[in-house]
Amino acid sequence: MAKKYVYFFGAGKAEGNESMKELLGGKGANLAEMAGHKDLRLPVPPGFTITTEVCTYYYKHNRTYPKGLKEQVQKALRRVEKIMGRRFGDPDNPLLVSVRSGARRSMPGMMETVLNIGLTTKTIPGLIKQSGANERFVYDAYRRLIMMYADVVMEKASGIEPKDEESGIRRQLEKIMQQMKEKKGYKADTDLTAEDLKELCQLFKAKVREVLKRDFPDEPYQQLWEGIGAVFASWQGKRAVSYRRIEGIPDDWGTAVNVQTMVFGNMGNDSATGVAFTRNPGNGEKEFYGEYLINAQGEDVVAGIRTPAPINEYSKSEYNKDLLTLEKAMPKIYKELYNYQKRLEKHYRDMQDIEFTIEKGRLFMLQCRVGKRNGLAAVRMAYDMYKEGLITKEEAIMRVSPAQLDELLHPIIDPKEEMSHKPLAKGLPAGPGGACGQIVFTAQDAVEWKKQGKKVILVREETNPEDVEGMRAAEAILTARGGMTSHAALVARGWGKCCIVGCSSLHIDYIRKEIHVDGKVLKEGDWITLNGTKGNVYEGRLLMMDVSAENKLLNDFLKLCDKVKKLGIRTNADTPEDALRARQFGAEGIGLFRTEHMFYGKGSEEPLYILRKMIISKTEEERKKALDELFPYVKNDIKGTLEAMDGLPVVIRLLDPPLHEFVPREPQKLVQLAKDLNITLEELSKRQEALHESNPMMGHRGVRLGITYPEITAMQVRAIFEAAAELIKEGKNPYPEIMIPVVSDIKELKDQHLIVEKVYKQTLTKYGLKKIKYMFGTMMEIPRASLVADKLAQLASFFSFGTNDLTQMGFGFSRDDIGAFLPDYLEKGILPEDPFQTIDQEGIGELIKIGIERGRKTRKNLEVGICGEHGGEPRSVEFCHRVGMDYVSCSPFRVPIAKLAAAQAVLKEKKKWKP
Ligand code: ADP
Ligand code: MG
Ligand code: MG
Repeated sequence: MAKKYVYFFGAGKAEGNESMKELLGGKGANLAEMAGHKDLRLPVPPGFTITTEVCTYYYKHNRTYPKGLKEQVQKALRRVEKIMGRRFGDPDNPLLVSVRSGARRSMPGMMETVLNIGLTTKTIPGLIKQSGANERFVYDAYRRLIMMYADVVMEKASGIEPKDEESGIRRQLEKIMQQMKEKKGYKADTDLTAEDLKELCQLFKAKVREVLKRDFPDEPYQQLWEGIGAVFASWQGKRAVSYRRIEGIPDDWGTAVNVQTMVFGNMGNDSATGVAFTRNPGNGEKEFYGEYLINAQGEDVVAGIRTPAPINEYSKSEYNKDLLTLEKAMPKIYKELYNYQKRLEKHYRDMQDIEFTIEKGRLFMLQCRVGKRNGLAAVRMAYDMYKEGLITKEEAIMRVSPAQLDELLHPIIDPKEEMSHKPLAKGLPAGPGGACGQIVFTAQDAVEWKKQGKKVILVREETNPEDVEGMRAAEAILTARGGMTSHAALVARGWGKCCIVGCSSLHIDYIRKEIHVDGKVLKEGDWITLNGTKGNVYEGRLLMMDVSAENKLLNDFLKLCDKVKKLGIRTNADTPEDALRARQFGAEGIGLFRTEHMFYGKGSEEPLYILRKMIISKTEEERKKALDELFPYVKNDIKGTLEAMDGLPVVIRLLDPPLHEFVPREPQKLVQLAKDLNITLEELSKRQEALHESNPMMGHRGVRLGITYPEITAMQVRAIFEAAAELIKEGKNPYPEIMIPVVSDIKELKDQHLIVEKVYKQTLTKYGLKKIKYMFGTMMEIPRASLVADKLAQLASFFSFGTNDLTQMGFGFSRDDIGAFLPDYLEKGILPEDPFQTIDQEGIGELIKIGIERGRKTRKNLEVGICGEHGGEPRSVEFCHRVGMDYVSCSPFRVPIAKLAAAQAVLKEKKKWKP
């Protein structure tokens, strides 16, 4: 027997189900589930799904079909005909179908669907009869068929490439329709009469023949099979391919084809079509949310041709608030729909995105899938559903991606600044957060300008799938047309990008590259600022700010992560203010406090001057004097941070950078320095020169400074212990961890350890204390350190992997110079990714593993962490969990992301989770 290629669904039964997405595609699997699952059995128009395997076969065998497919399609079609009591191609009582694409993962609008297949000059009279002599409806369906079919099947799938957007067949047909509307003085498509539409169909057919040199087919089975072929062909269409690149969807997955009985939302004013979400995809609120259009077919809602109306009060916006809701217009149907969506969400245990159509007062369900959502909505839904008991805490944690969490941490327009500006225009808030950028009008320009390092906002009448790359490149997207379910809104939501749609007061002139709005003219390159959460557009550049710190929802969600994660999350902070902020985010300590920070930026003038004196000093005596002067600054600086992190560990790294970084260059400073040190300028410049290194990153820095100038180490260690001692006296609980940087051998550590022990004892005596809690350890950033980790661990009670330097020295790539060759490495696939962004697990990761293994062999309870920038990158965090680190440390703003990644790492390890 031939393999099964065709799966039937309808009339309370289905051969497939939701778990068969790989074979039936997402759409097909969910149609089967909705139609056939015993808990659902919703009114789904009957049909069948041709599997993704047929697509794969089709491409492997020179665009032909496997044996037996035709027969299986015939058989399934007969079954549908029987249920419907109509026959495909029957002049008297014809069955019409849609041919719909549907890949494993949703690729919104990237592939094709053709509606009203089976309508021909022979079947038109039958459909008129079926519809109760509704000629207008029949010719409306016919003109839609001609338009979609010419575009999708006769042009795109046949590989015809129009030279520009305007000369594509769809655009040309749209123009004919527009002209007719203008001639007759109509506003909406629905004003066209039966006679108009009849004439329009003739004009369409003539145009199709003229442009595509082929007649629009008048044979139902030809329409059906060419339609099926076109869907398969659209898998390799330009925009589908480019979408797959961006989303990382493999090319060999293929699409399924769904052939489904047509139901008609365009049969009159008791008919409609719409899209809805079981919860608000823009902010996650637990409210049924959606849009619909009376007397329309499905594609009208998404295309933004007419302004869709809100389904209920909750869905109203500035933009559609005067339109009649479905709840008011068709209360019974609304109630039925409301019930279905409730059942669907409960069944799927997640927010569903639903397509429905109402034909003459009867509701049909045409699609459901897990709805795309932005970051805020993702976190809110996950947390709420967990609270409602719909999902477990583990599921809630896995429902939010680190990138989505990142969105919550994204900047918004400074509210004060926003108050003082009047919006230039208002639209629908389709993607949250704030963004500012320069106006561009084409996707291509967006990509180009971005390459030049500019920030752009892509402004379009409406977007279509061809624009995705430009949309990706833009900071934000602004459209003049379209609703919350338009293409722009859909795509932006998936990416969490700031987006405003349906901003109808914008008049866009593509040719002159201008926007006319409210008497003003904005040109290409002008700056605008968007508030995607409110839908406001502002002229110019507005100040941005961050709000994440006191977000209750975020904190609640992170508490769930805390319950699951094993890794500690610390932060890299150099000031008490940073330390406090990180604590608010839930940091559990400081993984890297860099002492040199006090010599940069605000308030650094004095200590920096003394440091310079110390650097230029020649004799130990000179140096000690300078160090004594420096001491109180260092102590206070450290004390402030230890106090802010009271009770939590603080890893304090001793002075790390090469000293010459601090040597003054300004002549004025030099004169004063010479005077202070009582030396000539000549002598000064000699000493300065002596500090010069040809390779400072691998020069006299880190522990090497402490080896040649033990008094520098002693001063810092004394500052740490005295700061801690004073805090203890004040009743606090400080916990410093002293970290020696750039270590490659145990003898270096021994040398420094002696100093630490000596100063420790002196401090205890000075303060009359028995003990100060502290740790002594080392930074692991030289490859050799990992190899001799067993020895290092004899003295070090903690390791902290400095993966920036470890990557730099492990690869021999200078981090500051990688820009010259990294792009080529990525392009040629020599490196899959920038190893400074995400840990190179294969090589650098191996050095880490060796270091941990050997270190713990010597010291079982060795504390291990990471303090490189990788510590806040989700995949690196997962790696750190797997290799058994105790904590990761990252910048304060990455702490929430690291927490989520750490929790997900635990769950993924348990293998409970399919990707
Ligand atoms: P997409 O994946 O791009 O959303 P769909 O296959 O869902 O494409 O179809 C596009 C539009 O046509 C949707 O609004 C859908 O509801 C509508 N549609 C598809 N099949 C039918 C049908 N059999 N009857 C009525 N409307 C349909
Ligand atoms: Mg759809
Ligand atoms: Mg380093």
